[in-house]
Amino acid sequence: MTEFTIIGGNVAGLSAAFHLHELGHEVHVYERDIWNKPCGGGFTIDFHQYLQEKWHVYLEEAHQGRDVIVGLPSGKHVRLKSPFVVTTRKELQKKLIQKAKELGIEITLTGKRLSFKEVIELCTPQTIIATGYSKITFQALNQKWNPRDVAHIVRFDGIVSNAKYPDDHIVIIDSKVLGYGWFFVGDGRHVNVGIGGETKSLPRGFSWKQYFSEFLGMLESKYEVYIHDDLEIKGWKLPLPYDKWKYSISNVQNGIEFIGVGDALGLAHPLLGAGIEPAWLSGKCLAIAVDTKGQIDVNKYQKILRKNIEVTSCRKIDIILAKLLRKPIPKKNALTYYTLKFLKEKMLTEMLKKPWYMLHET
Ligand SMILES: Cc1cc2nc3c(=O)[nH]c(=O)nc-3n(C[C@H](O)[C@H](O)[C@H](O)COP(=O)(O)OP(=O)(O)OC[C@H]3O[C@@H](n4cnc5c(N)ncnc54)[C@H](O)[C@@H]3O)c2cc1C
Repeated sequence: MTEFTIIGGNVAGLSAAFHLHELGHEVHVYERDIWNKPCGGGFTIDFHQYLQEKWHVYLEEAHQGRDVIVGLPSGKHVRLKSPFVVTTRKELQKKLIQKAKELGIEITLTGKRLSFKEVIELCTPQTIIATGYSKITFQALNQKWNPRDVAHIVRFDGIVSNAKYPDDHIVIIDSKVLGYGWFFVGDGRHVNVGIGGETKSLPRGFSWKQYFSEFLGMLESKYEVYIHDDLEIKGWKLPLPYDKWKYSISNVQNGIEFIGVGDALGLAHPLLGAGIEPAWLSGKCLAIAVDTKGQIDVNKYQKILRKNIEVTSCRKIDIILAKLLRKPIPKKNALTYYTLKFLKEKMLTEMLKKPWYMLHET
């Protein structure tokens, strides 16, 4: 049995904690707080069921919605039966932390962001870095993201009172920001709406705040989403490299081996930015890479992680599509629309064939 410190207690850190604990190791997770970090909170129905069945984690706020509409700002769109549920990031983190405590995993809520110096004092010889896009990740893993690999996202997440909308999730591919916007319906009057893309390609003086209100205007005029509340938005950055393996997975400093999971490694889908399930998968891959001496075999971890990410959320087709949609090419909106129209069922079946949170290759 080995002791491991985990810095960061959201999806990736808690997955590593659950899976290491399951194998009999002692883990101590340090997390700033249970909070509503910017996130869309969308993940597959399959992952939702798995959390219930395998870990008895019940998300009361999770809402499936009727359909997913994928469209363009012009109003052209395709419709699919919703393959995912939406909850708040806070509910997901809260319920996972509750479960971790019930399992006997040690969790400390620090109430503040730990400094690197404080982290060093808490470290075990191998320490897991699950701090997402954060200063600690840059310091511990020496992670230097190329700005082209980082998306900027703004979103509102909360209850609306002065609003009318269909029970459908909406995703709008938007060539202007080389990204996309979404409107997710949650339980009751809960909505999650945001937009994000590649900051590097935006014109000088571009304002995300202003663009967010234009996005709401477009949703109203083209997609029957009427929101007349004042929405407070929060911004965030998310690393979305096409080539995830050019960044470090581990780093030795002060005699400590730091090993990354989840967003700290930029594991989210290179176009959709969906990172909850890849983060979960990385925690599982890390745990099975512990060798007979109780050490995480980092080479093995990288191999397993890579194999699994490449058959789930970062397949060749995902990279091709992401490259296409993240480049300013002419007639892109039309190209996107016809790709969606003719390939929507196939794309969805392929995507769901190998669940992203699950281990497929060892
Ligand atoms: C606006 C937005 C919308 C998104 N929508 C979706 C979506 O709908 N579906 C989806 O699958 N993915 C979505 N994602 C991506 C998803 O949120 C991430 O991929 C996922 O949360 C990664 O989990 P993680 O545990 O690796 O990192 P994080 O969720 O970032 O968790 C890191 C944790 O570390 C803690 N931490 C960081 N630094 C310190 C410190 N110094 N001291 C103590 N604690 C620290 C933080 O408090 C945090 O809880 C979205 C991301 C953004 C930004």
